[in-house]
Amino acid sequence: MKRIVILGGGESGTGAAVLAKKQGFNVFVSDLSEIKPEYKALLDEHNISWEEKQHNESLILNADEVIKSPGIPDKAPLVKKLIAQGTHVISEIEFAGRYTKAKMICITGSNGKTTTTMLVYHILKNAGLNVGLAGNVGQSLALQVAVGSFEYFVLELSSFQLDGMTEFKADIAILLNITPDHLDRYEYKFQNYIDSKFRILQNQTEKDAFIFWENDPIIKAELAKRNIQSSLFPFAIERTERTKAFIEKDEFIISTLNTLFSMPTSELALQGIHNAYNSMAAGLAATIVNVKKENIRQSLQDFQGVEHRLEYVSTVRNIRFVNDSKATNVNSCWYALQSMNTPVVLILGGTDKGNDYAEIEELVKGKVNALIFLGLNNSALHSFFDGKVKNIIDVKSMEDAVDKAYEMANQGDTVLLSPCCASFDLFKNYEDRGKQFKNCVRNL
Ligand code: ADP
Repeated sequence: MKRIVILGGGESGTGAAVLAKKQGFNVFVSDLSEIKPEYKALLDEHNISWEEKQHNESLILNADEVIKSPGIPDKAPLVKKLIAQGTHVISEIEFAGRYTKAKMICITGSNGKTTTTMLVYHILKNAGLNVGLAGNVGQSLALQVAVGSFEYFVLELSSFQLDGMTEFKADIAILLNITPDHLDRYEYKFQNYIDSKFRILQNQTEKDAFIFWENDPIIKAELAKRNIQSSLFPFAIERTERTKAFIEKDEFIISTLNTLFSMPTSELALQGIHNAYNSMAAGLAATIVNVKKENIRQSLQDFQGVEHRLEYVSTVRNIRFVNDSKATNVNSCWYALQSMNTPVVLILGGTDKGNDYAEIEELVKGKVNALIFLGLNNSALHSFFDGKVKNIIDVKSMEDAVDKAYEMANQGDTVLLSPCCASFDLFKNYEDRGKQFKNCVRNL
């Protein structure tokens, strides 16, 4: 019997284990950390053997195939050993993709993945399609393939997931944008990260759709280099003769061979240029799977947004508080600042992934009255911003950050948490950081 070993006993790992067991493989799950009780229970329920807080190599190196959690880097010693001995190491999505005929709508990009994924799902679900949601959001694809019978899946794919995919094909691929991120996992070579994102197109033919931002300089350059077979659906604010979704005279327009759709931009639930892009991408995907125009219109209007993404918290004494904790890179902070119509007190900092703050320099100079650095080590921020902004302070807790921001803000200002950085120095994750921010604001 073929032996499948799964590294990482989280959402994707345990889902993959259940599916592999169902397919009749000999399955073993190994996690270097502790496995959450609910996942242990799921594994036990399916009689799947597992270990935690260790990797027993004798039980792992004999695998016929290994499914690796996207959180484990290729440079982890055990993964290196597996690759060196020629063992096939894949992602949970690649594995699950083998056992379903559902149409796959896959979303990647440096920013906007979750928002766009949730929006596509919202439109398809409201239109009555039999659709599942997976990838970086919600339940694992593998578990849903094991127990469900969806006809469509909307998948949010990170570059790490794409790295473990070779045979998988997206029927509809969305590539929102590419800006430097996660370079620590890509040997600090931007091209490696770009190549990883472009894996979203692998195995596509002219029958498959590729939806992308037409004016992204990186995507443009790659398109010129690559021989892409997919049918192209570019979107942009200003149309060219190729553009399939765009804005004209305050109308949001989708124009493909089969559809002409328009609605006033003011009626879109998600505001801001970046969200117009996300709505275009989602609207195009819905059009391609033949969702009716009235369903698309309704869903683009009533979508609720996603927590921690430019989320309005409240206004205290005429100071607005906005939680953008998910802005874990400089580009997403750029869009947040760009969408601000008032002076800003910006809270940023955390685990720096090799950031270049030059991208937001102009917006900071133009809109930001005070910077609050919230991190254990703020030296990279100081070396960039010192001398460029008058008011800069350091804090080490969210409570302090919010108190100081409240003191420093003038009436009418916005206090924006848009950190440009990962959260792991002071918080469990970005959700924890955003929740603490909201709690502190509510306690003012
Ligand atoms: P991801 O899942 O790719 O991290 P999210 O939808 O969670 O993307 O949004 C992350 C951050 O990026 C948020 O701060 C959000 O305001 C910003 N953002 C959302 N869509 C875009 C976009 N198309 N381009 C740039 N930034 C965006």
